[in-house]
Amino acid sequence: MTNTIFAPLEIPHTLAAGPGPGNTDPRVLERFASAGTADHMQPDVLRGMIECKKMLRDVMGTSNIYTFGVAGTGWSGLDVMFSAVMPGDTVVVFNNGTFSGIDGLTVRMKAATADELRANPLDPKPASVTIIDVPHGQSVTGEIVEAALSEHKPKWAAMAHWETGSGRVNDIRGFSEACDRHGVMGLVDAVSSLGVEDFRIDDFAGVAGWASCPQKGICCLPLTYAPVSFTDRYITELSKTGCRTFVHNPILEARHWGIVDGQDVEKGTYHRTHSPYAVAAFHEALRITLQHSVAQRARDYAFHEAALREAVTAMGCTVTSNMTSLVVLNLPESLAGREMELVQSCRAKGFGIWPTLSAPVQVRIGILNLLTPDAISEIVTRFAKAMQDMGAAVDLIAIQNRLDRHFETAIAAE
Ligand SMILES: *Cc1c(COP(=O)(O)O)cnc(C)c1O
Repeated sequence: MTNTIFAPLEIPHTLAAGPGPGNTDPRVLERFASAGTADHMQPDVLRGMIECKKMLRDVMGTSNIYTFGVAGTGWSGLDVMFSAVMPGDTVVVFNNGTFSGIDGLTVRMKAATADELRANPLDPKPASVTIIDVPHGQSVTGEIVEAALSEHKPKWAAMAHWETGSGRVNDIRGFSEACDRHGVMGLVDAVSSLGVEDFRIDDFAGVAGWASCPQKGICCLPLTYAPVSFTDRYITELSKTGCRTFVHNPILEARHWGIVDGQDVEKGTYHRTHSPYAVAAFHEALRITLQHSVAQRARDYAFHEAALREAVTAMGCTVTSNMTSLVVLNLPESLAGREMELVQSCRAKGFGIWPTLSAPVQVRIGILNLLTPDAISEIVTRFAKAMQDMGAAVDLIAIQNRLDRHFETAIAAE
């Protein structure tokens, strides 16, 4: 018998022009690859984690002590946030696309009683959870939240800040205010908005828990940390009820970041084996965000998204999204129904755009960490060529001229 040993895995470079992951900054990869081999209790690793925690508070705009990174992806941070939801808890979840749909499933799994879970283990329907469905392509408004919370008076309410599935921005102000009015603890999936939009979580008093991810606005793909932040109210509630996880218990997970008994302490204590490479990468990603500043990044995203939106509209596409890191569009009438074919042909050439993951089928083009005129022009050119290859009449020169004018205005304004 011989073993099968495959050749070393080579992964080509692609242009990550989708909803996420974003393009990792070379500085992040450089820190990742140049960290020394060190254990998770080595002093510089622990210091790095404390510095990350402090920088993260600035990025998120919070004085919440319980602010730290959860090892893993966006869902890991969300799992930590939702871990305080206990069987039988009343929850209202607002669903307007793929990701808030999965948030709703997570909540249903956690709020289900043992019997409810056994009845439908992978898709439980607990009586205590109300899912409010808002159609694809529409935003969750403050009125929708107010109506649902005043009717159901739940313990928790959950919403995605930006629903990446349909590219829609939901009304976080309205959500927070409605939570406040009804004494509900709000839980927010800020996976797509953190590091893209300029907002401070402390301005939203009705929200008790926030969870984001490494790979979108924070641009730290090498499996690192999903940012989370919890108010004292959330932590007090959790310390009364407990939760059924060791590793994803927010109170226990925070210890390694030097947060013990609600206080910052000088160094963390063991919770799990953190990687020095991951800590170094996350640290650099946070430094990049703060050096550029959250406010400037937000302006840059808005400016470049407008350029992309204008260009695809000139190609005859209809944009239905309102996020600034992502354009979700319908193809012109002549190409309707051929969205998957178009996306697949782009992806086969290393141009990583995406379809929607739940109906209706639309095309999603993102600009995460692609905030330069050259990067936007490349996206526009490659997309225009793909449409031309499918027989659409696209005047690429006219479109390039429009883009140039858009970028010149900015230079003139400076
Ligand atoms: C991307 C995304 C997630 C999932 O994040 P992963 O990093 O894939 O785990 C969850 N919610 C929203 C709103 C997202 O955009």
